[in-house]
Amino acid sequence: MTRLSSTHSTQSIQSTETSSHWAARSLASVWHPCTQMQHHQAHPPQVIVRGQGVWLFDDQGRPFLDCVSSWWTNLFGHANPRINAAIQEQLGRIEHVMLAGLTHPPVVELSEKLSALTQHHLGHAFYASDGASAVEIAMKMSHHFWRQTGQAQKNEFVCLASSYHGETLGALSLTDVPLFRSAYESLIKGVHTVMSPDARQAQSGESADDVARRAAQALEELLKSRATHISALIVEPRVQCAGHMAMHSPLYLRLARELCDRHGVHLIGDEIAVGCGRTGTFFAFESAQVWPDFLTLSKGISAGYLPLSICLSTPTIYEAFLSEHMAQGFLHSHSYSGNPLACSAALAALAIFESDQVLAHNLSLAHHIKTAFHWTHDDERLEHSRQTGTILAFDLKPAWAQRHPRFSTLMHQHCMAQGLLLRPIGETVYVMPPFVIQEEEVSQMSQGIQMALDLSLASSDE
Ligand SMILES: *Cc1c(COP(=O)(O)O)cnc(C)c1O
Repeated sequence: MTRLSSTHSTQSIQSTETSSHWAARSLASVWHPCTQMQHHQAHPPQVIVRGQGVWLFDDQGRPFLDCVSSWWTNLFGHANPRINAAIQEQLGRIEHVMLAGLTHPPVVELSEKLSALTQHHLGHAFYASDGASAVEIAMKMSHHFWRQTGQAQKNEFVCLASSYHGETLGALSLTDVPLFRSAYESLIKGVHTVMSPDARQAQSGESADDVARRAAQALEELLKSRATHISALIVEPRVQCAGHMAMHSPLYLRLARELCDRHGVHLIGDEIAVGCGRTGTFFAFESAQVWPDFLTLSKGISAGYLPLSICLSTPTIYEAFLSEHMAQGFLHSHSYSGNPLACSAALAALAIFESDQVLAHNLSLAHHIKTAFHWTHDDERLEHSRQTGTILAFDLKPAWAQRHPRFSTLMHQHCMAQGLLLRPIGETVYVMPPFVIQEEEVSQMSQGIQMALDLSLASSDE
């Protein structure tokens, strides 16, 4: 089997230990996320010791192209010199300091920049460390806002079918993925789940906008009957990533904004995966020319370097918490809120967006991806080849998926064997590479995926 070659020379590794040695030690002591550990007995985890640009390297120097940006976090490659330098410089000043009662330049500058990027619609930044916590913050702030303004009965939330908003108990209540949720159903509060605007549901003659209108109608029906008890609607704008990369028209966001305004319900935009230029605009909501009341960011905001999440909110929300009474403040906190190293990584990433005109660059990257994956439209085993910005996805047709129940595992393994890091979501294959991927590497990625697809579907599962 041919492996992709990296454009970077592979350094010799000092360590005498082999990959399998690290894998065995990992299995003895590391409980890996989103993993059935028993499956790792037969297929141990891959050790990675180094990264450079879009490439990851194991301890033998074997390269893997990071097609999924290390779980959608990495924007400008691994070991990016400018981001490394920014973190090192900050490390020489102050590594961390609590954010209650104290402040520091990186957190101030980052908050100001984010406010400016929202044209000051969302000018108040609250900090946490992971995406799920930012979602919890938006939920708590939304309900607390209604409480402060005399509508404490508004304590219900609405999410879309196939939504994913994280896996802590509050965020999990808004996550409509049975695999992640079912075991904990008795621990979580019920929510309203409404039709997703997923454009794959278009019936013959229907456009993506028509599906968006149908989904908005379903939302309207719920709000008409229940809005007095509803605190907020949460949406992943443009792409429901963990929900099989379901993509929708920006029209849905405009209609949802109108409905939320009309019925007095907050709109939370979860841009943890789709923010930071992924879909074409810096924030995905910009494509609809409306703003949510809360906007959550994580993953790409620190360029894949350090845990950082942010819940942005409007002046209306912020001002409702101002009071003489301590308990009317937002008393939520995390130990590492606004960590200076993470903020300096985020500032370095935002500086790259400006200096390298990344949004314009991403237009041509999106075009390269589209061209390289054109074959996915003609392959009779596939359907719903779709793209939003630099995210491209396609699905295995149901008949093929039924015949190959282990498709996602096999596909992952065949890709790894060819030097591609890729994890399909069930029958959905997607790529979401770092923005610094070269045109040539996009072609390598596409060819490798086509070969892995052939190999995965050639072997019989029975
Ligand atoms: C990843 C993700 C989250 C959760 O973020 P974590 O940092 O994994 O807790 C929430 N919402 C969306 C849309 C995500 O993609």
